[in-house]
Amino acid sequence: MNFRSFIASNIMLPIGDIITGQPIKKQLTFLGKSQFWTRDEIDKYQNIMLRKLIQHAYKNVPYYTELFDKNNIKPDDIVTKDDLQKIPITTKEDLKRNKDKHLALNIRKKDILYRSSSGSTGEPFQFYKTKNSEALLKAAAIRAWYWMGYKLGDRYVKVSMNERSSLLKKIQDYFNNCLYLSSTQLTSEEFTEIENKILNYNPSFIRCYPVPLHYLSQLIKKHHRNYNGKNLIAINTTGSTLHNDIRQEIQDVFKVNIYDAYSCEGGAVFAECPTHSNYHPSEEYAISEFISDSFTLSDKDNPRRLITTDLHNYASPFIRYDTQDYIVLGENMTCKCGRHFQNISKIKGRDSDILITPSGKYLVVENFVAYFEWITEVDQIQVIQSEINEIQINMVVNENFNEETHLKLSEYWKTYIGSDVDVKLNIVDQIKLTPSGKRRTVIRNPEIRLNDR
Ligand SMILES: [Zn+2]
Repeated sequence: MNFRSFIASNIMLPIGDIITGQPIKKQLTFLGKSQFWTRDEIDKYQNIMLRKLIQHAYKNVPYYTELFDKNNIKPDDIVTKDDLQKIPITTKEDLKRNKDKHLALNIRKKDILYRSSSGSTGEPFQFYKTKNSEALLKAAAIRAWYWMGYKLGDRYVKVSMNERSSLLKKIQDYFNNCLYLSSTQLTSEEFTEIENKILNYNPSFIRCYPVPLHYLSQLIKKHHRNYNGKNLIAINTTGSTLHNDIRQEIQDVFKVNIYDAYSCEGGAVFAECPTHSNYHPSEEYAISEFISDSFTLSDKDNPRRLITTDLHNYASPFIRYDTQDYIVLGENMTCKCGRHFQNISKIKGRDSDILITPSGKYLVVENFVAYFEWITEVDQIQVIQSEINEIQINMVVNENFNEETHLKLSEYWKTYIGSDVDVKLNIVDQIKLTPSGKRRTVIRNPEIRLNDR
């Protein structure tokens, strides 16, 4: 352990844990050991945690008390993971409809955090988390970073489509040796600046969504910049599907491997291990079930829908929660990395369509979901580009939506997308699923080719 890493791990992390009330260091120590548990040990731990969660949820969370009573389920009926099937699946709509009943009655305000998530499906959704569960999830994300060779204190760059607004986060970035670069626009000017800053900073790791990272790598190629001899060790991607051809292109430019990861509300962190043949979920955090549906049958990969049970969040519990995301199972054998977690070969179903305007501006799913995440008057969105100069944002709105909000949103998106596009914001009754039952947030008419601009 070098000096910087020692300071980050033994001084900065514990101080941060005290300030935020989130015991990440303690959880990291736990996860460092548990990652090499046998399959029996993992199952045993999950079953114990599941029984505790079910007792708590039935006793203290009105939504689950009603759900269990209505379906004639007693908490004692749930003994192992196999019994989970007795409980009906809960959707995001169910939890949004029962927002007040989803918060545990016995939780102290000082122990919880307010969270907002939109995932890739464009449905803003707010809920609570205990600080303890947040710490475990963050520790699982850091452990996944360890798998790519990262040590606390190592220099890294995070490229985001959101501004860093919180002062605490800025202070944490400073001490974590993180250069946070944000751009709300995917334009050549902004990304050339990002490219220059990354080259000057010379980080060991880069973290970014796949689409902006791909855009950045194309610019680097165009500028004939060379990453040979740089300090870069690996790249971490998350947030939308990383397709194999895009992965290869990015790796060719940066000359390092990508470690992709996935997470969702109520679920484990799924991270690629050093073999690159599997993603492993942090099974200490959540139980993942993989079910078949109509989409499964229509796709040759045989993807399964991920249903998750969060074992640690006692504030707004997620029990058999439908993530609406699809994964492809890996081989049913111990991974060569020596871990006995589930093997996942592919994460599918995260929307990554790109829109392009006549002036060549790219718009990605993150542009829309990051904005609508906090617009509580809008329940769901879908963005459709039918012509190069025509974009429609369809919104399912709730009773708090009014003309003023409509105007504000219209003005924002017209300015943001640009005057060369006719932008319309429509209120619709529902967002239709695709024939295979999937929900897509951003849809571009395939006849509009990206390379034409
Ligand atoms: Zn592995």
